[in-house]
Amino acid sequence: MTSSRIAPWASAGAQRRLAEVEATVSADLTAAGVADTVRKALDAHTAQFDDDGIVLYAGTNVLSPAAAAAHRTSVSSRPSMGWPGEKYQVGLEHLDTLEVLAPLLVAELVEGAHAEVRLQSATLANLAVYAAFARPGDTIAVLPEAAGGHASHHAQGAPAIRGLTVVDLPYDPESLDIDYDRLPAFLRAHRPRIVVIGASLMLFPHDVAAARAAADEVGAVLLYDASHVAGLVAGKVFQRPLHEGAHVLTFSTYKSFGGPSGGCVVTRDPELARRVSAVAYPGMLANYDAGRLGALAVTAAELAEWGGAYATDCVTNAQALAQALHDNGFRLARRDAEFTRSHHVAVDAAPLGGGDAAAVLLGEAGIYLSGIGLPWQHPDEGLRGLRIGTQEITRRGFLPADQQAIAVLMRRALLDREPPHRVRADAVALRREVDAR
Ligand SMILES: *Cc1c(COP(=O)(O)O)cnc(C)c1O
Repeated sequence: MTSSRIAPWASAGAQRRLAEVEATVSADLTAAGVADTVRKALDAHTAQFDDDGIVLYAGTNVLSPAAAAAHRTSVSSRPSMGWPGEKYQVGLEHLDTLEVLAPLLVAELVEGAHAEVRLQSATLANLAVYAAFARPGDTIAVLPEAAGGHASHHAQGAPAIRGLTVVDLPYDPESLDIDYDRLPAFLRAHRPRIVVIGASLMLFPHDVAAARAAADEVGAVLLYDASHVAGLVAGKVFQRPLHEGAHVLTFSTYKSFGGPSGGCVVTRDPELARRVSAVAYPGMLANYDAGRLGALAVTAAELAEWGGAYATDCVTNAQALAQALHDNGFRLARRDAEFTRSHHVAVDAAPLGGGDAAAVLLGEAGIYLSGIGLPWQHPDEGLRGLRIGTQEITRRGFLPADQQAIAVLMRRALLDREPPHRVRADAVALRREVDAR
């Protein structure tokens, strides 16, 4: 096997691909050559996703034109450290405007009082919450990985950096939610400092009030990770975690929220906010890329105006797509007769060779999404599900009536096993048709 210079410890599949790319990019390493190689890669990538792709990947989005215009890359390399009025650097008065607008608008939008918007991802936002409210050796309770519990909740991720023990919350695969009957006794037995709810697959809302009551009994902080559903939360659709009782809300700003890459921590409690803020800066950050805060502020202001309609459309599209997939012969995750109340849909891909294999095939057909674990899967089965998010196609103007066409493309690639390049031509044609409206 040819091994990779970059990561000789990576998996065999990763090493094969890394070595292949390492060989091709090494041809011309002059500055001009590298600039040319980079430009071609970026042009091809953006054409593939932004111009031609049907992007159903749940953890992405497109910026609005106003938000994109407000994102200044040159500002990223001008450090801006500390609060306005006590900055380490001088001459940053103009940026103070962004640094005030972004947290004010974000906090208001998700019904909180204080927003920490400087962390550069939700993973770091979760780590800041762990560091603020748990000490090394403490326990946190999170959703099982097969139920969408994220790497940043689990032992291999951010909790390990804080030296935390992680236990899985009791889960009910039938209701696709926490087993609330078993929750209080479970928390009394494990006494976690933090209870983390919210996941990478969220078809149905949590009973936040029940989780909060159980957390209160053991004095735990209830963290709702809304990374995927933040756009719906902003639209007051699906659920309102802080209003319903979560102490702290974290989320990614680039998924359904539709803003630039970043992470937020929002709470109503000034003491909790103060502790998170001290961990974030100067604990975890020096420069925090103020270049993206303008785009974040514009995104939040836009969601305050039309986020309710956007969120409703995301859910309506997801429900229409789920029904169309069901009608075309796919097996879906469901609770009784319902497929979803969010912008997510989950397909059981076991009959399709598993979620990862199905996602690769769809990628060749110009439809981009990912595998996901499903609560009823076997521990060493791989990712059994295919996860779909409708947030990007909704922003691009796809309507419920277009969902049958997407389901047919997926059926042709995955069930009829048509050559992917033929399906891809029709996927691109569908994008063109919707773009032209
Ligand atoms: C995507 C995701 C994250 C991580 O988000 P980043 O901003 O990419 O770090 C955290 N939590 C959940 C539940 C997620 O799905």
